[in-house]
Amino acid sequence: MLRLFKILVAIASMLNASPLDFTLIKKGTPEKANTLLVIGGIQGDEPGGFLAASLVGTKYTVTKGSLWVVPNLNFPSIVQQSRGTAGDMNRKFVHVDKKDPDYKTVTSIKSLILDKEVSMVVNLHDGSGFYREKVVDKYFNPKRWGNSCIIDQVKLDQVKYGNLEQIAKRVADNINANLQDEKHRYHVKNTKTAEGDQEMLKSLTYFAVKNKKAAFANESSKMLPTHLRVYYQLLALEEYMRIAGIEFERHFELTPEGVHNAINKDVYIAFFGDKLRLDLENPRKKIGYFPMPKDKNLTFNASNPLTTIIKEKKGSNYDIYYGNRHLMKLHPQYFEYSNKYDSISVNVDGKVLDVKFGSSIKVDEYFNVVPEKDLRVNVIGYVGDKSGNESGQKIEKKDIIRNYSIDKNGKKYRVEIYDTSEEDKFAGMFLVEFSKIQPEEDSSFSVAMGEDKEEKIPN
Ligand SMILES: [Zn+2]
Repeated sequence: MLRLFKILVAIASMLNASPLDFTLIKKGTPEKANTLLVIGGIQGDEPGGFLAASLVGTKYTVTKGSLWVVPNLNFPSIVQQSRGTAGDMNRKFVHVDKKDPDYKTVTSIKSLILDKEVSMVVNLHDGSGFYREKVVDKYFNPKRWGNSCIIDQVKLDQVKYGNLEQIAKRVADNINANLQDEKHRYHVKNTKTAEGDQEMLKSLTYFAVKNKKAAFANESSKMLPTHLRVYYQLLALEEYMRIAGIEFERHFELTPEGVHNAINKDVYIAFFGDKLRLDLENPRKKIGYFPMPKDKNLTFNASNPLTTIIKEKKGSNYDIYYGNRHLMKLHPQYFEYSNKYDSISVNVDGKVLDVKFGSSIKVDEYFNVVPEKDLRVNVIGYVGDKSGNESGQKIEKKDIIRNYSIDKNGKKYRVEIYDTSEEDKFAGMFLVEFSKIQPEEDSSFSVAMGEDKEEKIPN
């Protein structure tokens, strides 16, 4: 599934005009019009929702039933850490102007909701405070949205999964059986939209309800750290899947720590069919002289649909984002690319390996790229003998200048290969990771994703 996802993203990045178009991940097999559609990121500053959708899209396998996931609906707002770069997208489902920058996104998601396969829609949000039926205090009261299961009305007659209130209660019960703190308790919030909630009438879920589709919103509280918000969102989504008869396997443990790791580990972006790949765990803010091809559109695939790369509007650098986080700036150096080679032999601690470009190798003590006719090796940050070709040289961690690592821990370095038979065209890159090095800087990679920012506008 990961492979299929990679292919989908690769195709998307080739066909789409923008690296900020939303992604649709289809899992399982549609049958009998029983697909659950999960949507994250309708508002860009709600990471609990869009990270949960991204994890369901990439780290779950669906073994029965059909699940569609849009994890990054309002992607431009996500990378800008903004509720909406063109206003609130969740108020554009009655009318959206053709000139509105959100027009294409709103129109596309509407038709997805109306797709005959879709029978249940869950829209994920991070809301302020904690919803309670009665006022407890400033943060726990009926005007708050956090940690609630939202419905527009009690039921929808003659509609599959139309017993909205019953379903939302079942979901809240499942979450409440797994609370990390009694204060986090979930409640069902009925916005009674049709009775005249002018704002909610324009929302995505009410658009679905009006069109006779069962729809729910699930809110995690903005007062919780991101990974806990995601933990609660996943508890909700798993129950919605069970209700829709979807069977699945999850590839991590559903605990706060398991979710934290699933969000932060194994994040990468790879370019041009894996010719180059950057691991993005605790990445350095900027790396220079990154070999990019002349006259070629940038194609990439990434470990998750929230990771993308955008060229600066002014200037020549590229910015890599993972959701709300700006991970890295790439300063390019342009080369002709050669496609003749896709791997090279490397002696790693005394063992010769065939190392594929785009891969990462772990080194205990040293490595030594086996010399090959026509191939020139450049270990970024290694001070060699100035021949310009560093193949055949035994290289240890101490021989490389730490500032050239791609990560803040000083563990991972780039090894670039050039083809001298073709005027020094760029052939590929791999990474070496000195796995024994202890991190000297903070390696937690827990950059805040809009934590604890109070939301003024509801839902
Ligand atoms: Zn929201």
